[in-house]
Amino acid sequence: MKVAVVGAGLIGLATAYELARRGAEVTVVGDRVPGAGASSNNAGWVVPAESGPVPAPGMVLQTLRWMAKPDSPVFVRPELSPSFARFFIGLLRACSKSAYDRSFEATAALARGTMDALDTWAADGLAFEMHADGELRAYLDSVEYRHAVADLGRYQRAGLAPEALSGDEARAAVPVLSDAIAGAVRFPDERHVRPQTVVDALVARLAAMGATQIRGRVTGAWALPSGGVELRGGFGSLRADALVIAAGAWSGQVARLLGARLPVRPGKGYSVDYAPAQLDMRPVVMLSEAHIAVTPLDGGTRVAGTMEFGGLDERVSPVRLRAIQTAPGRYFRTWDPDAPHLTPSAGLRPMMPDGIACVGRLRPFANVYVATGHAMLGLTLAPRTGALLSAAILDGSDPEELRPFSPSRFGA
Ligand SMILES: Cc1cc2nc3c(=O)[nH]c(=O)nc-3n(C[C@H](O)[C@H](O)[C@H](O)COP(=O)(O)OP(=O)(O)OC[C@H]3O[C@@H](n4cnc5c(N)ncnc54)[C@H](O)[C@@H]3O)c2cc1C
Repeated sequence: MKVAVVGAGLIGLATAYELARRGAEVTVVGDRVPGAGASSNNAGWVVPAESGPVPAPGMVLQTLRWMAKPDSPVFVRPELSPSFARFFIGLLRACSKSAYDRSFEATAALARGTMDALDTWAADGLAFEMHADGELRAYLDSVEYRHAVADLGRYQRAGLAPEALSGDEARAAVPVLSDAIAGAVRFPDERHVRPQTVVDALVARLAAMGATQIRGRVTGAWALPSGGVELRGGFGSLRADALVIAAGAWSGQVARLLGARLPVRPGKGYSVDYAPAQLDMRPVVMLSEAHIAVTPLDGGTRVAGTMEFGGLDERVSPVRLRAIQTAPGRYFRTWDPDAPHLTPSAGLRPMMPDGIACVGRLRPFANVYVATGHAMLGLTLAPRTGALLSAAILDGSDPEELRPFSPSRFGA
């Protein structure tokens, strides 16, 4: 079967690779360097423990408070458009406790097996930087910490093994943490990678498997009467038996070429790499109140975070960047926001109104599929999204883990 994948980010590349492994003739069409933007600039965390979606109980009030502060963890640039209004109404609806619980469970189930999948990728010859040193969520506020400890049951039910640590226990585990830390929750089985190395490994393996990789922007798409699809762009035209739309935050634009509507919007985040490393530590650390991720990588420290709902642009806001550069100073013994670092970058997370991914067949088309909306977990969910979706496309299977993510929940 010939399958075209639009988008050479982590989701498109992982899906293309899993399709090629199952014998499909794959063509990936990407309009820029593979992985550019979110798929390379992300924090590098492979963390089923972070399966909680953005819409959460209490989120609306908190966001309204944060909106007055341009350096807050979540920032909304309001827009006078029906799609903006529809998106935020959907987000509001998804803030109930029951919706949050359902989304957490569905996402944790999709993430289950991601470590095994990464090991399978490595055994298949994909060479990438990976660390298995766990995650630590550090809390400055003892009330926030107590709330987190009271909620550990959901992680245990999801098959994870969270451990509550006092401030002293957290400092014993990660000595660079400051005396201000009130407590921490450790997830010992989480991993992290240097995301660009995963992108590069997928690109190289796809090339070795004989998959075609085209650089170009898809500007036209048609469902053919025969059941296949045709794509057009500066690269010419391309026909395939099936199409996967994995264009990240731009997936709505690609779906529109076929006359379909997908309510995906960008959630911008930033990251900056300090090199040499600023912190001598092994696990990744979540600065819980600041919602900032700190990642130790070979030869450096990456700091990433913020969620900015705005347009499809990857410009770096100096105010929001400064917030992620300075926050670690409150959590670690030593931290210099102005230490030598590489050029900061931004990436767009593909966000759905209900906060969970959108993966499956796009109705009414027989052979058009979507794989997007992975929000803050695109790296974590890429291996299982690719494996389950490729099985659905090639065998016509209907994997249970993908059902909660069907595009049909948006009438698509
Ligand atoms: C700061 C930050 C930190 C993050 N940290 C983590 C983390 O630690 N762990 C985790 O799991 N996730 C994390 N994420 C989320 C993760 O990075 C994203 O969910 C993921 O990269 C999305 O991948 P994607 O392939 O769907 O989209 P993208 O990476 O955006 O790829 C889509 C590609 O499609 C291309 N495209 C668009 N339109 C067209 C067209 N018409 N024709 C051809 N190509 C097109 C785009 O140019 C782009 O290259 C983070 C994100 C950010 C921003």
